[in-house]
Amino acid sequence: MADNISGKVVVITGASSGIGEATAKLLASKGAKIVLGARRTDRLEKIADEIKAAGGEAVYQALDVTVAADNEAIVKLAKDTYGKLDVIFLNAGLMPSSPVSALKTDEWDRMVDVNVKGVLNGVAAVMPTFTEQKSGHIIATSSVAGLKAYPGGGVYCGTKWFVRSFMEVLRMESAMEGTNIRTATIYPAAINTELLDTITDKNTAAAFHDLYEKHGISPDRIAAVVEFAVSLPADTTVNEFTVGPANQAW
Ligand code: NDP
Repeated sequence: MADNISGKVVVITGASSGIGEATAKLLASKGAKIVLGARRTDRLEKIADEIKAAGGEAVYQALDVTVAADNEAIVKLAKDTYGKLDVIFLNAGLMPSSPVSALKTDEWDRMVDVNVKGVLNGVAAVMPTFTEQKSGHIIATSSVAGLKAYPGGGVYCGTKWFVRSFMEVLRMESAMEGTNIRTATIYPAAINTELLDTITDKNTAAAFHDLYEKHGISPDRIAAVVEFAVSLPADTTVNEFTVGPANQAW
């Protein structure tokens, strides 16, 4: 199955840490050519260097997913550097959770901008290429928060629920339009990354840290699922993966 990965050109958003970084390294080790995007270019440079030192191929570019032109530019970088684009992993996101009553409206806006509009911007940037070549794979990181509502997740859950619904429509429309664009949506539970650093509400942060200390697993587990989705033949979509610690009830 690894043959379906080798040589594929993969753009990853939110590639500077956590799930994006782990996925970049795993796919690169299987022969994919990786285009890393995020805002912290010092991190991206280090990750690209590590991939190249291990014998892989990677380039990077500053990307703010809330800026449509940045998304278009990273797609162009992929095509200019490697001559094509096969996969985009829309993974950038943040989770500044809090009770609605705390009215952290700036954080609500930020989540909508990154988790919702960032995904839309990424899809808009790749659709012309994928439609024209009649192939392409769009993979997005939703969350178990996109499947379940819970206190503190009022806005975050909503953004991840959006990803679920949007990706399902994209899958259906692509099948109907015959463009052979594949989709995969991933619903991770507690994964040990830098995600909790975005929580500013003290009580919410404490509760999440407790949960993750008890249950959190490595982002390598999510990378393995992305690898599986990418490895399947072009006539097959595995559309949804819920992945989390075996000992977490979610
Ligand atoms: P991290 O905080 O480690 O990674 C988040 C990534 O998103 C970073 O690379 C960050 O890069 C990037 N990012 C944030 N804002 C922007 C932006 N405006 N433009 C471009 N990139 C941005 O956490 P995770 O790896 O856990 O998060 C990855 C995804 O997984 C997110 O969508 C998250 O919601 C989802 N998820 C995570 C779970 C977990 O338990 N960890 C569970 C369920 C879902 P930079 O700051 O350099 O721009």
